[in-house]
Amino acid sequence: MAEVRVAEHAGACYGVERALQLAWDAVDSFEGEIFTLGPLIHNPRVVAGLEAMGAHVVSRVDDAAGGTLILRTHGVSPHEEQRAREVCTKVIDATCPFVKRVHIEVERLRRDGYEVVIVGEPGHPEVVATLGHAPGAHIISAPEDVAYASLGDRVGIVVQTTLTESTLNAVVDAIDDGTREVKLVNTICEATALRQAAASDLARTSDAMVVIGGRNSANTTHLAEICAAICPRTFHIENAEELDPDWFSGASAIGVTAGASTPSSQIDSVVKALEQLP
Ligand code: SF4
Repeated sequence: MAEVRVAEHAGACYGVERALQLAWDAVDSFEGEIFTLGPLIHNPRVVAGLEAMGAHVVSRVDDAAGGTLILRTHGVSPHEEQRAREVCTKVIDATCPFVKRVHIEVERLRRDGYEVVIVGEPGHPEVVATLGHAPGAHIISAPEDVAYASLGDRVGIVVQTTLTESTLNAVVDAIDDGTREVKLVNTICEATALRQAAASDLARTSDAMVVIGGRNSANTTHLAEICAAICPRTFHIENAEELDPDWFSGASAIGVTAGASTPSSQIDSVVKALEQLP
């Protein structure tokens, strides 16, 4: 039987735990309809569980009119928040405090006269919300994109919280070519960095790695990429039912890690299933 080890830092982060607690409290305590603006977190199974408890996902604020609306961890634009407070009976702000910090920093950079660059994935909900706090900001995801951004003389940079330090460094190096003033506010969340470092450490001494989390979760996908670069037998799954015993034939050490939107109950069920492999 293979030894199964879980990474030192894995699974639900502070922001996700907080958002889930706020949502569970809302379901328990409030009368009337409850909605989340988009999936509360990037974890389909958790979102389905909340749906079953009566917290329905809506894609537009107006679809929650008259009910309680929970704003998710990724945050919202000021315009969306204002609209929510106008049309909903109650607004519960589950935006992660570390994401709030990004909003505060972009607003500060704008006030100080910097042209704002958000280093992150275009279209990611967190980046879209941050853009709402800094209209006109450039979104850059890779160093090759810098040449097309036609940046000015004073550039202020913030980062999607779940991005890797290596991507950030590559983009900053491309921007900071000595011709302009560059102010970097590194808003990468420590939870992400800790999970990435712990996953790398574990992948180095494992024959196979299992990475648990939503396929729509950026930070889980990054974890899987980091592990696969070290341990070719890396498998990204959303739940224990996806495990295939053939993946682990001959493996004596199996490592497990999980993205920041994966609750500990999902990690426990995967570990249990791996420990029962023949
Ligand atoms: S990964 Fe960090 S920024 Fe994102 S929700 Fe978790 S604690 Fe907040």
